[in-house]
Amino acid sequence: MFGVDQCRVCGKPIVVRSPEAVTEQEKAIRNPVVPEKVWRAAGLLTPPTPMQWRKNPADGCCGPCGRRLLREKYKTGLRFWLLLGGMIAVAAVVIAVVKFLPH
Ligand SMILES: [Zn+2]
Repeated sequence: MFGVDQCRVCGKPIVVRSPEAVTEQEKAIRNPVVPEKVWRAAGLLTPPTPMQWRKNPADGCCGPCGRRLLREKYKTGLRFWLLLGGMIAVAAVVIAVVKFLPH
């Protein structure tokens, strides 16, 4: 079963994490945390459990796929902070310009 004893990205056999893994996976299939379109676009073979989607993308994957998913998650986070930093920089420039404009 993908996400339990098979990697949920490439389908390679993996070690079953815990006896609850099957139950969690079945729950995720019955009641997906994201629409099928979204998890298919993320390159998954089976719907992720809420825990896998939010906290631990490496769960239910083989080593290389887990590392790749973690890296992608990290990159998304980094992009957010860069965007925020860029916005603060622009705001700082605008404030500086407004302050030094002759009144
Ligand atoms: Zn894999």
